[in-house]
Amino acid sequence: MSNKYIVAIDQGTTSCRALVIAHSGDIIATAQKEFTQIFPKPGWVEHDPEGIVRVQLQMVRDAMTQADIASHQVEAIGITNQRETTVVWNKSTGKPIYNAIVWQDKRTADLCEQIKSEGWADEFNQRTGLVVDSYFSATKVMWILEHIPGARELADRGQLAMGTIDTWLIWKMTGGNQHITDYSNASRTMLYNIYKLEWDEWILDRLQIPRSILPTVKPSSFDFGHYELDNVKIPIRGVAGDQQAALFGQQCLEPGMAKNTYGTGCFMLMQTGEKASASHNGLLTTIAWGLDGKVYYALEGSVFIAGAAIQWLRDGLQFFQSASESESSALRATPDHGVYVVPAFAGMGAPYWDMYARGAIFGITRDTTSAEITQATLDSLAYQTKDILEAMQSDSGVSLDRLNVDGGATSNNYLMQFQADILGVPVVRPKVTETTAMGAAYLAGLETGFWSKEQIAKIRAIDREFVPIMLEQQRIDSYKGWQKAVKRTLGWMKD
Ligand code: ADP
Repeated sequence: MSNKYIVAIDQGTTSCRALVIAHSGDIIATAQKEFTQIFPKPGWVEHDPEGIVRVQLQMVRDAMTQADIASHQVEAIGITNQRETTVVWNKSTGKPIYNAIVWQDKRTADLCEQIKSEGWADEFNQRTGLVVDSYFSATKVMWILEHIPGARELADRGQLAMGTIDTWLIWKMTGGNQHITDYSNASRTMLYNIYKLEWDEWILDRLQIPRSILPTVKPSSFDFGHYELDNVKIPIRGVAGDQQAALFGQQCLEPGMAKNTYGTGCFMLMQTGEKASASHNGLLTTIAWGLDGKVYYALEGSVFIAGAAIQWLRDGLQFFQSASESESSALRATPDHGVYVVPAFAGMGAPYWDMYARGAIFGITRDTTSAEITQATLDSLAYQTKDILEAMQSDSGVSLDRLNVDGGATSNNYLMQFQADILGVPVVRPKVTETTAMGAAYLAGLETGFWSKEQIAKIRAIDREFVPIMLEQQRIDSYKGWQKAVKRTLGWMKD
């Protein structure tokens, strides 16, 4: 095994990356390149699908060159990808009939509004676990079939294929031999019935999407075909959408385990086991992965403004020069200052769902300084995370036993300790923060027997575990204060 490696492909929204990972779990090479974002009109976002394949495969080669390994040394490839982004191509020519429509693209927002106004939102939610939104693939496929000349006829004749980026990459990498995806990516299309584990005939009918254009859906650890490089057939054995791959990379392998990524916003997923939990708080129910003949589910929620609030302190209020200084500033705050910052800059998401809310600072007194405001802003990241985790626990009936974290803002030790305090469970920061790529690599390595689950558990080294030290009463009171503050921001724009 020692001279064998896993190559992880991480096809993101702005860049293509490839990583070479050794049996020890060490990342021995990384290649990364940004690619062009296409903005044809306001609210529209596209990628060139052929360009993505070209750049991505170049990164695979670059990473292998950097690591100084040959094709026969690659045990398997694992793929993780930006989710929901949709490509439609001609099966006979292998050419896309239109650019990839990216998850951020809003051109089908009206279509989604129409579905909702016709009263179908619940029906979609009960089948797909999703909230009807232009974010997901379904209405993007519809748009392509309706707007590209000849598309509808080709689709009716069974000559078109659609796919999320994993599917498109695999199609190209296997020379058109495989039209395939995994459960986690299928669950983001808004076309897949996550309960029955099949493409949903009722939805396909409503949206007039022919069944023939859809890929086969398989477990996330599976034989997805092979990529021939320098006359060597390299097996593709792992596939998962980026957030699910990160959940797997963080080894949230038991129900109640969750990960939170602290970036510009926060992205949170909680594994809920083999049972799909419907949300009453507007969270998404999604498939985490398929593994060992079973399908595991997750609840997903996001905080819109997290690290972005720290950027606001830095750039808007000019409290400091770099985000990392927020930590020392917060540590200078007077204890028990009672200041709360609610960064509802563009409304509040889950579980409040109020687009009329706006940001506010509460509890200011004559001695309030930038230190208290900074601390309260950092606290708001932790409170918003708690809001969503509380909703996840109430939706699933599963209780959180720890929170695994990654992303830029996790380097802030004050924030991590406060997060543990306010949740009342340990917050665990891993040494290797490449959780997304590692998740794809693990899925591939498990399938070939390169790693066992026990070996993977040993690979994931912990950098630091933050254990709650706050007194129970203080935790309750602090959170009550936050909820009171949020309440006062709701509906602000309406008055
Ligand atoms: P993204 O992938 O969304 O760009 P990153 O994971 O790179 O995000 O994290 C960057 C975000 O984290 C920025 O919004 C920044 O304000 C915040 N951030 C970075 N370092 C710190 C820190 N030490 N303390 C608090 N926030 C931080």
